[in-house]
Amino acid sequence: MEKLNRILQNEQPAEVRRSNFEEVCSGYTLEQVTAEANRCLGCKNPQCMKGCPVGVNIPRFITEVKNGNLDKASVYLKMDNNLPSICGRVCPQEQQCEKYCVRNKIDEAVCIGGIERFVGDYALAQKSKKLDVEKNGRRVAIVGSGPAGLSCASELARAGFEVTVFEAFHKLGGVLSYGIPEFRLPKRLVKAEISKFEELGVKFELDTVIGKTIYVEELLEEYDAVFLGTGAGLPKFMNISGENLNGVCSANEYLTRVNLMGAYLENSDTPVVTGKKVVVVGAGNVAMDTCRTALRLGGEVHLVYRRSREEMPARNAEILHAEEEGINFNLLTNPVEIVGENGKVTGVKCVKMELGEPDESGRRRPVEIKGSEFILDCDQVIMALGTSPNPLIKKSLDSLECSNRGTIIINENGETSIENVFAGGDAVTGSATVIKAMGAGKLASKSIIERFK
Ligand code: FAD
Ligand code: SF4
Repeated sequence: MEKLNRILQNEQPAEVRRSNFEEVCSGYTLEQVTAEANRCLGCKNPQCMKGCPVGVNIPRFITEVKNGNLDKASVYLKMDNNLPSICGRVCPQEQQCEKYCVRNKIDEAVCIGGIERFVGDYALAQKSKKLDVEKNGRRVAIVGSGPAGLSCASELARAGFEVTVFEAFHKLGGVLSYGIPEFRLPKRLVKAEISKFEELGVKFELDTVIGKTIYVEELLEEYDAVFLGTGAGLPKFMNISGENLNGVCSANEYLTRVNLMGAYLENSDTPVVTGKKVVVVGAGNVAMDTCRTALRLGGEVHLVYRRSREEMPARNAEILHAEEEGINFNLLTNPVEIVGENGKVTGVKCVKMELGEPDESGRRRPVEIKGSEFILDCDQVIMALGTSPNPLIKKSLDSLECSNRGTIIINENGETSIENVFAGGDAVTGSATVIKAMGAGKLASKSIIERFK
């Protein structure tokens, strides 16, 4: 079999993009996407599909790209994935479909994400055909407009349900809008994807906090079923001394101010601290997004992580992008105290670590090196340590069974301990991925359709 190099997607050079919020990667041209699609072997037993959490029929849409039939490719892709333009950009394909691609044995995996992105963008640019769906007289309330809620809403609307999505924020999209920055996922795309849901007849109620403005019990009086897709928006802290100093915040708050409330835009009146020397604690996708955002806002950015590069949970592409842009990685380093003067942060006291025996997660446990403390000077600290579900829904709904981590417990059909109340996404799993949240929304929609058919 002839070796064929994988075609790289186009992107802004690091020295240019590090000071702007425009999308880093601009994807493929038609010529490039066709050449990359031609690398796909159209396997009879496509291993790539085994790696996709929602089982997208990958060779089916790639074959249509090869044939030059983008209309058909987008119809096929949309049958399996409601948000292809978004998934093409943010899914960790290297750990999913591309990891299993047969082409890895010959040279490199087909760039499935890049082809999906191209087809997803093509589909968005087309005028939608009006879908005539016969209404079935059933009504469903969806709580939360992130990928889980949107995916559930769209499947139900297509099946004839009247669907209303309630969202606490003033903008739709969940983490797609308030978490992932513009330079990785342009908000015009999130808006455009959501407008396709409106065309399907899905109604959206913004600024409505379920559990405060309206209770789930009240929704159940008006709707046949409720889906809880409330995500995991409660940030974790380290519980070390100094976390209440001015200049310390969670990545969640920081990214919400910058992304959702547009603090990065000129003329924005959203206050945000923009440190000259910023320490970001953590090493997941959220930490990478935070570092790269703080860099673009003019900071010298230091990432602090207690394990080594090998254990960093962020996508490899994000780590590489962050390195190329000039983020300083302080690995095997753990913060033990945040120090300050006059109520303001002035530095992070850190200790050096080494890797010991593997822990229960299989990763080698970081162990402190005695006497290795040092102060990393800074004027801003951002904690990107993960999140858990917001306890509001549970507090307002006593009979909702949750785990001791605060995640909602569901059965194999996506139903909670309360009849006709379903749940999915990060609210059930804790922070995970866009595609897993979409898969969970789809699973619950199937159960709801089955129950009311
Ligand atoms: P969310 O997207 O969190 O949406 C939940 C929605 O519910 C929110 O809009 C919230 O306001 C609303 N809500 C909450 N409570 C209520 C209430 N009581 N009433 C009304 N509305 C409510 N995943 C990837 O696959 N790839 C990535 O590159 C990636 N990068 C990430 C970067 C960041 C910064 C973050 C934070 C996450 C990232 N993730 C990534 C994870 C991914 O975004 C989430 O797993 C996914 O968004 C979860 O979807 P969800 O619908 O369950 O929840
Ligand atoms: Fe194409 Fe790779 Fe999937 Fe085979 S495994 S069908 S080569 S994408």
